[in-house]
Amino acid sequence: MPIKEKNYWLETVTVPAPQPAHDLPDSVDVAIVGGGFCGLSAARTLARRGLSVAVLEAQTFGWGASSRNGGMVLTGMKLPVPTLMKRYGKETVRKMYAASLDTIDCVEQIVREEKIDCDFSRCGHLEVACKQAHFDGYEETAALVKREFNHGLRIIPKSELRGEIGSDIYFGGMVDETSAGLNPARYVAGLALAAQRAGAGLHDHTLVSSVEPETKNGAHKFRLQTSKGAIIAREVLLASGAYTTAATPALRKKIIPIGSYIIATEILPAGLARELSPRNRMIYDSKHFLYYYRLTPDNRMLFGGRAAFFPETENTVRQSAEILRRGMIGVYPQLRDTRVEFVWGGTLDFTLDVMPHAGKIDGMYFAAGFAGHGVAAATWFGAKLAGLICGEPNDIPFDGIKFSAAPIGLRSGHTWALPLAGAWYRILDFLT
Ligand SMILES: Cc1cc2nc3c(=O)[nH]c(=O)nc-3n(C[C@H](O)[C@H](O)[C@H](O)COP(=O)(O)OP(=O)(O)OC[C@H]3O[C@@H](n4cnc5c(N)ncnc54)[C@H](O)[C@@H]3O)c2cc1C
Repeated sequence: MPIKEKNYWLETVTVPAPQPAHDLPDSVDVAIVGGGFCGLSAARTLARRGLSVAVLEAQTFGWGASSRNGGMVLTGMKLPVPTLMKRYGKETVRKMYAASLDTIDCVEQIVREEKIDCDFSRCGHLEVACKQAHFDGYEETAALVKREFNHGLRIIPKSELRGEIGSDIYFGGMVDETSAGLNPARYVAGLALAAQRAGAGLHDHTLVSSVEPETKNGAHKFRLQTSKGAIIAREVLLASGAYTTAATPALRKKIIPIGSYIIATEILPAGLARELSPRNRMIYDSKHFLYYYRLTPDNRMLFGGRAAFFPETENTVRQSAEILRRGMIGVYPQLRDTRVEFVWGGTLDFTLDVMPHAGKIDGMYFAAGFAGHGVAAATWFGAKLAGLICGEPNDIPFDGIKFSAAPIGLRSGHTWALPLAGAWYRILDFLT
């Protein structure tokens, strides 16, 4: 059977798609650009507080990274804690780390309150060390995280690794039991329904082509031009992630869109699935050019990585299938004869400092830069920005940290230098 070049998760979505609101209203309190985790979570919170909200999505709800990802609901941030401490200092990183733990609770609470059937499970994550030096660093990280944030990470020596993963290629691991896993396509579909139930207007196939400030009778507003007409909004929230367009150039130039790709195998026999991942963890390795993998609820091996650095195209998706299959067999020789049934790609929103950012840009609220932590983080940032719009105090520790533009050559629409960045990461993986 040929590999299906399509997103496996979408095959599992049984909830009805949200009924999109038909006509754009003339004006709303808040217009949200982008209907992924971030935009929908913000819309749900805002509508529950009585504001009128229009979510403007160029494609369908969840079409972007939010339905294409690994479904790993992860604690921590992309950068290692010692690096963060050096960069931002103890007090700020304490708040950032606490926020990262909060993000998981935020997703769990929404799933529970909205009864979203998305296989959410606190199964924990396992980071595996590709080199002895990486494993040696885990001791320092775990001690630091315990001391500074009172959060427990468990070190798994190589001799005990078989209890966590059916592979012998790693030098040990580190487990965080707080992390979770879910089915992202079901989660984002449930989130859209929840936002709609709360009263938000959901407008799919509505591309925002420009956003301009407008002052009328002394009141500052925004006029958004869309493929379905114009809409006036008191506030605008940009939740367009890696797919941010030239309609919002100030944000776009800060985002580095990086392709990531995933394969899913045929359904594995239960015994083999248990051998590969005895505790059903969300797993990723310690490289810069990393692999991430997990079992799906129906026991497929879902295996992802940056097989190509470019945002996804038909070509990069096709090429990635074989690259990832080889990577998977390198980790799990047991899967040599297992059929790969699905391959797909998506685009992650990185920033130059590899940090999430939020706040205001050109007078509009925004959150971006979630990299591989967006399932939990985008949900949380959306809810937090909604709180700010409703007048809550700003306790987002990522607001106000320096946010530089990406170098030309790494920006959306001009990504010619991305293969160089990919090559640089491969060199780093060789050297460190
Ligand atoms: C392959 C892959 C694997 C990943 N794995 C994980 C993982 O396991 N765990 C994890 O935490 N994170 C993971 N991520 C990252 C995570 O999926 C994202 O960080 C998260 O989904 C971002 O959500 P978002 O709402 O900000 O953006 P998105 O879900 O990308 O939504 C943005 C939306 O904005 C719309 N849009 C853009 N511009 C406009 C416009 N002008 N007008 C109208 N609409 C517009 C787009 O159509 C898009 O639907 C992964 C990402 C990818 C691609």
